[in-house]
Amino acid sequence: MRVEWTYDEGVWRLTLLLDPEDEVTGTCTDGQRLEMRTSSCRVRLGGPDGPGLPSDVHPDLLATAAWTVAAPWTRRRVTFDRPVSPRLAEALAAGWGIDAGPVAGDPREGSGLAISYSGGADSMAVAEVFPDAPFVHFQRVSHPRVPNRWTHYRSDVAARLARETGRDVTVVQSDLEFTLAFPRPGYPEHHAVAVGALLLADRLDLGGLAFGYELGSRWLGGGRYIHRFSPDNPMWAGHERWGRLFAAAGMRMVLPVAGVSEAVTMRMALESELRPQLRWCLQGSGAIPCGRCGKCLYKELIQAAVEGRPMRTELTATSGPGRKWQQPPPYGGQEMIEYGCARVPNIAETPFAKAAEHLGATVESTRWLERCYPPAVEEVPERWRKQVDAYMRDTIGLMAEDEAGRVETWGAA
Ligand SMILES: [Zn+2]
Repeated sequence: MRVEWTYDEGVWRLTLLLDPEDEVTGTCTDGQRLEMRTSSCRVRLGGPDGPGLPSDVHPDLLATAAWTVAAPWTRRRVTFDRPVSPRLAEALAAGWGIDAGPVAGDPREGSGLAISYSGGADSMAVAEVFPDAPFVHFQRVSHPRVPNRWTHYRSDVAARLARETGRDVTVVQSDLEFTLAFPRPGYPEHHAVAVGALLLADRLDLGGLAFGYELGSRWLGGGRYIHRFSPDNPMWAGHERWGRLFAAAGMRMVLPVAGVSEAVTMRMALESELRPQLRWCLQGSGAIPCGRCGKCLYKELIQAAVEGRPMRTELTATSGPGRKWQQPPPYGGQEMIEYGCARVPNIAETPFAKAAEHLGATVESTRWLERCYPPAVEEVPERWRKQVDAYMRDTIGLMAEDEAGRVETWGAA
């Protein structure tokens, strides 16, 4: 793969040029098959005529940003249009077995922390742990050469809500999701959400970027119910190599809420002063969540459990996303299904009635999901660990040893 970045009036444009061994069908870190639709994309700042993205960006940041788009399609080597540091090339070799070059120059360092902020409960929980950190928000915009069949996806609403938090917010717009033809527009790698923060890292003097990965996605195997210690857990292996690459670019990945479940991040978001800007569904009119998609149903289960009230949904066991819960487990996000089924009073009248029977979860059997898994705090880079540690000890509480054991044996049976 050859990678070219060009800069014009505040906008960075990325072009991927395939080598003979590369293919337009690839696989991203979590195992999803992807098909390339187009080989170029742009990144720019949102909002009225600001200064634009900086033109002077360390080559390791440009390379890392490019790699979040290029990784699925690259087989053996990547040739950047400006030399990367030896440290960055080593991270690509160690993580992907990729030969990267040309190699020259010094690695970069930075000091501050920004939050990759989506506006969902998990990133809002991160904002609670780091109330002074600026937000960088990724906004999908349409691609000049790819028709947008996803106009019902209101990325404009998410960007507006992020601005309405009143925090220090930079909205970065990109059409990089349209590089994918299959399965749909989306990040080639999950880490592509960070392209804007990477391109701004020198200007903002960033040494770390905080993401909203919670217990399920970091330690329990994503939505796939794969045992954490299994070598075939692609999320587990992926975290290691992406973490190493970002660190090589002087931009440490920081996961402040990786030790807590979505029940805890939901509670933190509901109690946040940013709650009026909370939004996890970008379908529908934009005024409110659609209430009809699988994500809305799943989040309503969690919110009802956290608030100790009946679920409010018009979906049934035979309608739309309700149907998938009529099968026996395993389920994606199963720990939260157990948590919700154990706590929601009218569960027998909801689409989760069958799942509740299969799972047989109780308040007691799911109590470990209300506290923080200590190793998640220990892996926070030292510069930011104290703040995460204090928050988790004082506000959430740490798991006891037997509760931590539930994390480590999850899905093993
Ligand atoms: Zn929805």
